[in-house]
Amino acid sequence: MNAVPLLRDVFGFDSFRPGQAEIVDAVAEGRDTLAIMPTGGGKSLCFQLPALMRGGVTLVVSPLIALMRDQVRGLREAGVEAHAMTSGNTEEETEAVWSALSRGEVKLLYMAPERLASGGTQRMLREAGVGLIAVDEAHCVSQWGHDFRPDYLRIGELRAALDVPLAAFTATADAETRDEIVERLFGGRKPTIFLRGFDRPNIHLAFAVKDSPRKQILGFAGARKGQSGIVYCGTRARTETLAQALREAGHSACHYHGGMEAEARRETERRFQQEDGLIVAATVAFGMGIDKPDIRWVAHADLPKSIEAYYQEIGRAGRDGAPAETLTLFGPDDIRFRRTQIDEGLAPPERRAADHGRLNALLGLAEALGCRRQALLSYFGEEAAPCGHCDLCDTPPETFDATTPVRMALSAALRTEEWFGAGHLIDILLGADTEKIRARGHESLPTYGVGRDYDKRQWQAIFRQMMGHDLFRPDPERHGALRMTEKARPILRGEDTITLRKDTIRAARGEGPKVRTLVSEEDAPLLSALKAKRRALAEQAGVPAYIIFNDRTLIEMAETRPRSLDDMAGIGGVGAKKLERYGNAFLAVIAGEAEAMHPSRRRLAGRTEGALYDRLLAAQAELARGDDGTGKPMQCPAGVLARVSRQKPRDMAELERLIGERHAERFGEAFLSILEDG
Ligand code: ADP
Ligand code: ZN
Repeated sequence: MNAVPLLRDVFGFDSFRPGQAEIVDAVAEGRDTLAIMPTGGGKSLCFQLPALMRGGVTLVVSPLIALMRDQVRGLREAGVEAHAMTSGNTEEETEAVWSALSRGEVKLLYMAPERLASGGTQRMLREAGVGLIAVDEAHCVSQWGHDFRPDYLRIGELRAALDVPLAAFTATADAETRDEIVERLFGGRKPTIFLRGFDRPNIHLAFAVKDSPRKQILGFAGARKGQSGIVYCGTRARTETLAQALREAGHSACHYHGGMEAEARRETERRFQQEDGLIVAATVAFGMGIDKPDIRWVAHADLPKSIEAYYQEIGRAGRDGAPAETLTLFGPDDIRFRRTQIDEGLAPPERRAADHGRLNALLGLAEALGCRRQALLSYFGEEAAPCGHCDLCDTPPETFDATTPVRMALSAALRTEEWFGAGHLIDILLGADTEKIRARGHESLPTYGVGRDYDKRQWQAIFRQMMGHDLFRPDPERHGALRMTEKARPILRGEDTITLRKDTIRAARGEGPKVRTLVSEEDAPLLSALKAKRRALAEQAGVPAYIIFNDRTLIEMAETRPRSLDDMAGIGGVGAKKLERYGNAFLAVIAGEAEAMHPSRRRLAGRTEGALYDRLLAAQAELARGDDGTGKPMQCPAGVLARVSRQKPRDMAELERLIGERHAERFGEAFLSILEDG
């Protein structure tokens, strides 16, 4: 069976995401494969689709029960026979699964790893006709990783016993883990390896220096009211106070950390998954097991511990591919805290050095002078152009040659034998008259008062950036006193210069109260109406909202306003089953909400552009299914058509910029000829 029609009819997607097609082909062909894809890259499709293309049962091993249930629910909703077998199943449920298996009705069987241990499972799986094993979160087989699951070691044994192909998936990229997976799951037999890029272009990246963190987080959340988000906090106490503050500000919010009872933790996970618009203030314990595709934002109230942790945490946002935003707050205290944590940890020295390196990479990202995505991807070994979708691309920072003040700061530290923290060193540079300075005779140092060109706040920014660039490190044995690193030596000696940001305090307010919406102002009321319909349907069915349709699908509906089931079938995420089940309900919402005339058209009324708009619309309707009437239905959003009528592009290139390549291919010629007629 061919992959693309299935992709459309069952999953409702009109194209593969980058990298998916090759993996699907390989898995469907029965090759052993290991695919490394970032979270949200669309891994599950890479085994679900081949499962439908191949005969027999596909066994899916996954460590997370909630995640498995969710996938099974989603598949059933799309009309696919999927079952799960976990320790949470009742006797009857298990019985029902076995009998469905014996009737040969099951396409996908999800199984928790601990089930593999129970006697007889292997024989039953063989009898059921398992023809492919898919392993999700394959890094759980790595004994050195954080997520090690001893039962994963049985998978290799099972593969050998059944002698079927195996497809392993993980988002963990490092080479050692990869080798372990090959060794343990494939028994050393080399699989075909796919390594998919790490970019998540729909996630907007931003950092801000802590100013008044609670206010910053409330401001960020306030501008995104009603959207699901996570606030990661450095401490358990902070999760509770922030959740409280968010509730007081009128949000629906709760806290989550490892110190809570298992029951309360599960309840929070369940609510987050199910509700539309809940905010969870959490420690990093809130992570594995969160499989919500429509998390619209992730904020860090405190700096994460490394660049990998940062990437993983922000990566939980926007897995459905719709726009998502992030904000990471940091300050000198965070840097000190993270350094100390590493230094005082129990890891062996070479491990500690590596951890400092990972923290440095994150700090470099925080203090970056150019595109953040470029910096982030380059850490993962990928080259990229400036992204145009991060805070620094939005507003390039002002920078200055900071060689002189940096040398002054280093010299102040050295002349006081590296026994002091930033506060006292800044007092020396500013020539302040304090008790501590007098007591130690620091007013007679040659550096005393040499830094008066900058004020206290500016000096704090310089010291913070110096820590960020790893020129200074707090020494835990000296109560956090700053010590110069080797990296700083060339600057001190005048062999190197350094550029710093003028100040990042101002940027902290960049997240102003401007409300961020997912669609234009005109389409927003319709989007809310569609979401309300979705919520009602989800509650009726007792499933999370995104199981009905994800945000991206609703956004496309709001923007293109389909008028028939045919139009509706062309929307991404609307497969045959869902069309049948929900198509009419959503069409009714669109018909009810959309007045006869789209607001974009109404605004052109009485102008020549209005008539032009109508002609474009008519031409578009004619070509909605392509020249021969068999193509996939397609249309431009009303706002885009209005723009075309106003701007009247002259040639294909110009038109393509307005309506995009795919639409230009279908409508380009017709539109241009209408525009030429005037
Ligand atoms: P992960 O790689 O993290 O397991 P998932 O498989 O859960 O990611 O996919 C993330 C989201 O992307 C899901 O909401 C899924 O429906 C969506 N998705 C996957 N493949 C496609 C595609 N080809 N087109 C559009 N959306 C897709
Ligand atoms: Zn950028």
